[in-house]
Amino acid sequence: MSTPLLEVSDLYVKYGNIEALHGISFTVGEGEIVTLIGANGAGKSTTLMSVSQLPPPEAPKVISGDIKFRGKSILGMAPDKIVSDLHLALVPEGRHIFGNLTVEENLKLATFARKDGQTEINRDYKRVYTLFPRLDERKKQRSESLSGGEQQMLAVGRALMSGTKFIMLDEPSMGLAPLLMYDMFRTLKDLNAEGMTILLIEQNANLALKFAHRGYVIDTGEIVAEGPCDELMEDPEVKKAYLGG
Ligand code: ATP
Repeated sequence: MSTPLLEVSDLYVKYGNIEALHGISFTVGEGEIVTLIGANGAGKSTTLMSVSQLPPPEAPKVISGDIKFRGKSILGMAPDKIVSDLHLALVPEGRHIFGNLTVEENLKLATFARKDGQTEINRDYKRVYTLFPRLDERKKQRSESLSGGEQQMLAVGRALMSGTKFIMLDEPSMGLAPLLMYDMFRTLKDLNAEGMTILLIEQNANLALKFAHRGYVIDTGEIVAEGPCDELMEDPEVKKAYLGG
């Protein structure tokens, strides 16, 4: 098998004295959609935050284990370098957009660390506005006045404007009405068809397992099941605990 794009191995992570991940291991191959599912507090967000190495005070601290990108350890790498050099971007839960800036300004800000040229940046603006026509219509609107769904689109749009080729999404369906949620997932599928690698965490396990290629189930900081999504959906334990029987 070729080297995975992302390989997390035996990761132990703490918040202060409390251990939140107890030896998590998983891989994401280039062009794959992988999902991590699990109950509230299982450790899904902590896993994504550990990979993107967000700065303190939010940061969980890696105690042992490794995070490799294309076979090379990225432990200790600066979070901005992870975005600009590895093209790996996190869309966090809660979105983290700048409410007092317009849609356009938020998108522009996301391009700051790009090393490619204006032609590529313009191509990505076009792509974002084509994928999310609502953002195009609301370019000049202050982001705090966008609806929840529109803010979610902007959060994904910002990741795309950072030049990402690998997007990690923390609960993109959160707060979205069903129609918008399906729209969002369709858009993410389109991005994957264009070559985007996706790591998705979701509480809506039914949705996540239908969307992704492979999945991992996290329970209290440990992986308890893994496999292709169609197999996980048929696993009696997974069905009982996460798919409503
Ligand atoms: P949810 O679906 O509810 O977002 P999750 O699977 O993403 O849950 P995490 O947010 O990763 O779970 O939380 C894992 C564990 O780490 C939980 O016990 C949580 O209380 C703890 N935790 C998370 N963030 C912090 C923090 N900043 N300080 C201390 N403990 C934290």
